[in-house]
Amino acid sequence: MAAILDLIGNTPLVQIQRMTRHLPENIRIYAKLERFNPGGSVKDRPAMWMIRDGIEKGLLTKDKIILDSTSGNTGIALAMIGAALGFRVRLVIPGNVSDERKRICRAFGADLIFSDPLEGSDGAILDARRIYDECPEKYFKPDQYNNPANPRAHEESTGPEIWRDTAGELTHFIASMGTSGTLVGTGRYLKRMNQAIQIIAAEPDSPFHGIEGLKHIESSIVPGIYDPAVYDEKVGVDTDLAYELTQRLASEEGILSGQSCGCALAVALKVAERLAQEGKPGNIVAIFPDGGEKYLSTPVFAGRDHVSFGEGI
Ligand code: PMP
Repeated sequence: MAAILDLIGNTPLVQIQRMTRHLPENIRIYAKLERFNPGGSVKDRPAMWMIRDGIEKGLLTKDKIILDSTSGNTGIALAMIGAALGFRVRLVIPGNVSDERKRICRAFGADLIFSDPLEGSDGAILDARRIYDECPEKYFKPDQYNNPANPRAHEESTGPEIWRDTAGELTHFIASMGTSGTLVGTGRYLKRMNQAIQIIAAEPDSPFHGIEGLKHIESSIVPGIYDPAVYDEKVGVDTDLAYELTQRLASEEGILSGQSCGCALAVALKVAERLAQEGKPGNIVAIFPDGGEKYLSTPVFAGRDHVSFGEGI
């Protein structure tokens, strides 16, 4: 018997099968499917670690409200864990956030405050800061962009799981960057185990619709946890390609994914094709941060309404 929060982590590592048929057999791509976390994304890990850290340090007590400025995966994770542990959660989010996200957060019992949609996520961040500053003793603010417990979650769970599940045989690790917690924490652990493992950041050329904080690190506010020394290379990904690969993951692999999975896969395929040209083997591991359900009504899956495989084949 397990409690729901015991199910965070230990997500499956699956091999990409059909979209890699053009590659030599000794080059494999594996996806770590973070959608199998109970909150549905990779963000359950840092949310759990930040909350636990807050409790251990006496910063988060039962009288306090967990306050953050996201309805993305971190907001959903905080709301889910808050519900499971009996903490109140207040999320400040832009008013134009999709209905399904509002409903998920509310289903977990979170209190939503809407910021000006025209000011985007920056408006939500500023509003949350103002609400916190007005009454800091009332709140616990996890601050995922600057909280070392965010990358530590990955250093202590995601990294060791990948090492275990590949028996240490991986050559490349790929993660798309938002706060950079996944890349920095997992990369740190894997480099410690084997310095030769290539740590690669996948970055969309333009910010993705509906994904919190997934944008150019260098052109926006740099997170306090960001550590460029951890990774070997950063590869840009065209948004249209990320969307196309996300659709193909569903229709060709049976893996319903969010677009940052397509982004990570684009880089994995690029690395794989480079290895093939050089005649080298490789075991490439890519993080797939979440599932596709939350994005079905967004541009990534637009155009799939009229897809037919045709008859008579
Ligand atoms: N993809 C998705 C769907 C996410 O929600 C996030 C988290 N913002 C990321 C990728 C990036 O993860 P990280 O914040 O650890 O860099």
